[in-house]
Amino acid sequence: MENCIFCKIVAGVIPSPRLYEDDKMIVIRDIEPKAKLHYLCIPKTHFALLSEMDAERAEIVKHCFSVIPTLEKTLGLEEGYRVIINQGENGGQTVHHLHIHLLGGEKLADF
Ligand code: 5GP
Ligand code: ZN
Repeated sequence: MENCIFCKIVAGVIPSPRLYEDDKMIVIRDIEPKAKLHYLCIPKTHFALLSEMDAERAEIVKHCFSVIPTLEKTLGLEEGYRVIINQGENGGQTVHHLHIHLLGGEKLADF
C-alpha cells in the first residue's frame, strides 16, 4: 500500500533492522519503545484491522502467533511479555497495517 509506513519497512524502502524475517512476517524494534524491550511483529501483507480477516489473513496471523513463542529467547522475552494489537481509533492504532506489539524486558505495570 502506498503511504503505509509498515509496507515501506517490509519492502525495505525505509530501512529497519529485522530481528526475524520469513515469507509472511518481520520482527523489528519499535522506534518509540514503551517498555525496556518493545518489538513489532508485522505481517508482510497489508491489512489494517482484525475485522478485515479472511482465510488467507487468518493463516498469516496464525503463523505470527506460532512463530512468536519460538523467538522468546532470541528477543530476551523468556521472563514473560505482553502482546498487544491496537485496533482503530479507540484502541489507539496509529499505523493502519495490522501489527502485534511485544513488550517485555521488565515487569510491566498492570493495566
Ligand atoms: P500502533 O499505535 O498503531 O498500535 O503502533 C504503531 C507503532 O509503530 C508505535 O508504537 C510506533 O512507535 C511504531 N512506529 C511508527 N513508525 C515507526 C517506524 O518508522 N519504525 C519503527 N520501528 N516503529 C515505528
Ligand atoms: Zn501496509
